[in-house]
Amino acid sequence: TELSTIILDRIRDVPDYPKPGVLFKDITPLLADPVAMTAVVDELAGLHQVDKIVGIEARGFILAAPVAYRARAGFVPVRKKGKLPAETLEESYDLEYGSATIEVHRDAFTPGDRVLVVDDVLATGGTARAAVELVKRAGAEVVGIAVLMELAFLKGRERLPGVELHSLVIV
Ligand code: 5GP
Repeated sequence: TELSTIILDRIRDVPDYPKPGVLFKDITPLLADPVAMTAVVDELAGLHQVDKIVGIEARGFILAAPVAYRARAGFVPVRKKGKLPAETLEESYDLEYGSATIEVHRDAFTPGDRVLVVDDVLATGGTARAAVELVKRAGAEVVGIAVLMELAFLKGRERLPGVELHSLVIV
């Protein structure tokens, strides 16, 4: 589609970042482009009728906040452990080396809130899966996950059974 072309043209491959052998998808050219940024935010805001948009730290925040505004929804941050000030729920997941923990405020949702989870890139799916788990444990309903780009070779989609996954581009 036209939107996927707009996105693909503005995501840059950076070799060996953050470590040797990794080809990092850099979304900053897309963020800086008025046409692409507007089109992406409008597309994400139109996916579902929701009460809240969850953004995953840190690049997910950049997208989720304007999507929440456009969708007339609230914004809820999912952050790395230790960053949220009030009482939290936490979820850990395995990385290639070691593990990571993310958190959400325990009282971030009204029971039954319909929620869309937004991030920039779906890689192994570990982060998205943990975020979905957090939102559910906090009493809300995940109606979908939306990402700009899905890296299909990492099979993240397989770690998200039963969740509607919207990838604006699949590579
Ligand atoms: P996963 O948990 O799916 O393996 O990794 C996804 C998380 O790591 C997302 O929060 C995403 O921001 C980040 N990430 C992993 N690989 C990339 C990449 O190539 N580009 C960008 N922009 N983010 C990435």
